[in-house]
Amino acid sequence: MSSALDSRQRDRYSRQLMLEGFDDADQTRLLSSRVLVVGAGGLGSAVIQYLAAAGVGTIGVADDGCVTRSNLQRQVLHGVDDLEDRKVDSAARSVELLNPDVTVETHPDRVEPGTAPSLLEDYDVVVDGLDHFPGRFVCNDVARLQETPFVHGAVYGLEGQTMAFRPGGPCYRCLLPEAPDPGAVPSDEPMGIFPTLPGAIGCLQATEVLKLLLEYGTVLDDHLLRYDATDATLTKTALEPAPDCPVCGPDGVESVEDLAYDDRCRIER
Ligand SMILES: [Zn+2]
Repeated sequence: MSSALDSRQRDRYSRQLMLEGFDDADQTRLLSSRVLVVGAGGLGSAVIQYLAAAGVGTIGVADDGCVTRSNLQRQVLHGVDDLEDRKVDSAARSVELLNPDVTVETHPDRVEPGTAPSLLEDYDVVVDGLDHFPGRFVCNDVARLQETPFVHGAVYGLEGQTMAFRPGGPCYRCLLPEAPDPGAVPSDEPMGIFPTLPGAIGCLQATEVLKLLLEYGTVLDDHLLRYDATDATLTKTALEPAPDCPVCGPDGVESVEDLAYDDRCRIER
């Protein structure tokens, strides 16, 4: 890619180019960046749209699902014309309308331990838009072993949380070492979600992705940020690397080939 922005791009991105510490080279860096969004649901809708609007040049979208009517209350990337289509295809169409500078790479598969290493390895940042623990743990583990930042997000009812995990700091397993007891937390089961909640958390995730790509501001990599929409509370909780973490700890696994899981998403050693 040429390092110079053309006149259309200079106009399109003018409001971010006006920001202090943001120049043509930063925009060029965004245009040559590659971000993988795993999950094209509520969180992914916000992440994908804002990263595309900002000019992140290549966005991978991984999701094995199709658009259903009950998605549309919060998954604003998709519309009634997309019902029953694959979410990755719907996402690609939306991005095409939003910004022709952006290429979408579609991965219509569920993230599995066997395929995740080759899926994740070509991206600069991996984004968690998942609603199930097995995929989230696999993405965390593979991203950390490949030294790729992993921007976590999760929503439940009227609550959500986000944090950027990157080498040198804690990982998702330092926060949650293994999946909760089956039945303790609904995972694959449908649950109530306040419509704007995934958008709020997804915007925070997209913000951290842009900061990571641009080395801009202070990345949210040492605190977990929680948002409770019930009373509009934001809480930041410090998180340290766990010395006994099976992924980022000193005795953690060393290679993606060593990743095997039990039914609670624990790494089998
Ligand atoms: Zn860890």
